[in-house]
Amino acid sequence: MTRGRPIDAFDDLTRARYLEAVAAGVRLGEAAQAVGVHRNLPAYHARRDLEFARAVEEAVALGKERRGIRHGEAAYNEGRCRCTEICTPAATAARARRRARQSKKDDGATDQSATGADGPAAAPSSPLPFSLRSPLLPPRPRAA
Ligand SMILES: [Zn+2]
Repeated sequence: MTRGRPIDAFDDLTRARYLEAVAAGVRLGEAAQAVGVHRNLPAYHARRDLEFARAVEEAVALGKERRGIRHGEAAYNEGRCRCTEICTPAATAARARRRARQSKKDDGATDQSATGADGPAAAPSSPLPFSLRSPLLPPRPRAA
């Protein structure tokens, strides 16, 4: 197995997302986790990269007033936070879970208009060992 050096994982995009999360009030360790890097990695980079260190400081200052928000689905739903690192994905995932659960419960009874589904959505037997059914996808046509 190849194991990328951790340094490589902290590219510009990841840095930007990390800074965004911190600016949203996410704690540093949590922000690192949210963008998928080790919690010590940003500090490591900040020690070597003064510009980045300054950016982190700025983000922390920005995030201070929003600190105390508990990031997550609730924060998103209550309009307290729309950060793209935690709250938005949490709300999106929760919504998808709810819809998946609901469409499982009353199969096909929920709105079909958005998906443009034709015919019953129920696909009783799947050739796969797991379900690929997603509320975002129209039902797979069944091979005759
Ligand atoms: Zn948030």
